[in-house]
Amino acid sequence: MLCVENLHYSYGTINALSGISFQVNEGEIVALIGANGAGKSTTLLNISGLLHPQSGLIKYQGVDISKLPPHKVVEAGISLVPEGRRVFSRMTVLENLVMGAYLKKSRVEIKESIERVFDRFTRLKERRNQLAGTLSGGEQQMLAIGRALMSKPKLLLMDEPSMGLAPMLVQEIFSIAKEINQSGTTILLVEQNAYMALSIAQHAYVLETGAIVLQGTAEEIANNP
Ligand code: ADP
Ligand code: ADP
Repeated sequence: MLCVENLHYSYGTINALSGISFQVNEGEIVALIGANGAGKSTTLLNISGLLHPQSGLIKYQGVDISKLPPHKVVEAGISLVPEGRRVFSRMTVLENLVMGAYLKKSRVEIKESIERVFDRFTRLKERRNQLAGTLSGGEQQMLAIGRALMSKPKLLLMDEPSMGLAPMLVQEIFSIAKEINQSGTTILLVEQNAYMALSIAQHAYVLETGAIVLQGTAEEIANNP
């Protein structure tokens, strides 16, 4: 479904990705794990069209998307849950979701997508008219995920969804990710929390200072000393 080939990205003189290659098969959860600064977010930003690589290919369903602007990437079926529970804190839950609906959607389609998100996140439904900034950290993360689902992505990119959350909530976020996957959405999951990521992924890649140093099934990676 997604095939990243020899991707290079640098921020000025800072080399963040030095030629990484990996792939995501349709239907899977693939984990991209690594320490802080390894290049995980940079990878997702490149796939999302928010950054453009200096060289390399990002093939999505056989077509290179590395030069597309972000809205075209969303239209193609890829959606990002950004790092750090980004929500529009002065907008309500409902307004945040509408922001995720993106272009060319009718009111009926938007309503239907909102209902779909509320079916999955009943806590958000109860708080639909509350300002996002007043939600708990876990609820904000759910809202960020819900907003990404508004465009009905085929591939969901998740950037450290467990960051800064209490262990119980981490469990909850990961089981939500698993449910989303089981209902047909492929997931590329970026995590520092290797243990949790490997518990739900089929395949995994380990990133270290801009290079992939290990790859295999989640089981192989988990058993690697
Ligand atoms: P990770 O998501 O794995 O923590 P990042 O992709 O955020 O890693 O960062 C990879 C490297 O790029 C790091 O060395 C980081 O300091 C650097 N970097 C990230 N964002 C910027 C930026 N906006 N400007 C300059 N350097 C950056
Ligand atoms: P605050 O109350 O912290 O000042 P705001 O209500 O002004 O925050 O904005 C909410 C946050 O959403 C900001 O941190 C803003 O940077 C962030 N943001 C900006 N663009 C996006 C986006 N595309 N998706 C999600 N969050 C975004």
